[in-house]
Amino acid sequence: MDQRSKNNSEEQLHGLGRKLFAGKCQFFAAATNIENLPSPDLPEIAFAGRSNVGKSSLINALTGQKSLARTSRTPGRTQQLNFFNLGDQATLVDMPGYGYARASKSRIHAWTNLMHDYLKGRVNLRRLCLLIDSRHGIKASDEAIMNELDEAAVVYQLVLTKADKVSQTVVSDISRNFEPMRKKHPASHPEIIATSSRTDLGIMELRTSLSILVVPNQFR
Ligand code: GDP
Repeated sequence: MDQRSKNNSEEQLHGLGRKLFAGKCQFFAAATNIENLPSPDLPEIAFAGRSNVGKSSLINALTGQKSLARTSRTPGRTQQLNFFNLGDQATLVDMPGYGYARASKSRIHAWTNLMHDYLKGRVNLRRLCLLIDSRHGIKASDEAIMNELDEAAVVYQLVLTKADKVSQTVVSDISRNFEPMRKKHPASHPEIIATSSRTDLGIMELRTSLSILVVPNQFR
């Protein structure tokens, strides 16, 4: 493909991302167990990560809405899946944060069960964005989730958050160190996107990458 055609198709893809995420985004359901999951009508994209990873901020940045996903000061408070309708084109799912130190065993158990049930049976789930704090890198609890996702064959993509807080070298190191781990994680997507909800770094790139999963086949 020559440079001009490449630029054109990149522009077209960015247009898709812009258009999808410019759609109205509205909370429409919460689920605490599989019995009350909404019906799987639209392509779904889920967001998961350790508590305080910057998940609410990222969802707000993607959708351009300041307080859509509440940025919570109490890590691990929400134990439910929150569903947002994005312009009647897709569903975004905000999953409860994991890996917080002070949670009781029974809470962790409830969380794991909910996550497990959701991942196992969600036919419309196109991708899960697994958020990793750039300052902390991949933790044992993230790897435990990756194993769960590999087992459920849910394609997941690592998305680094708070990239404004670290140097480019730190970002590159996280990606490079993940490369050899990928053999153990067959459901992981090869591309890692570094983002910042503060500076908007990577936000357009992530919108584009997710919009390709939602729109017609010609772009996949
Ligand atoms: P959640 O618990 O994963 O939903 O995390 P939040 O979105 O509530 O963010 C947790 C903390 O990290 C808050 O103090 C945010 O202001 C901060 N934060 C979130 N995203 C960014 C980012 O991209 N850059 C920086 N510097 N701080 C961020």
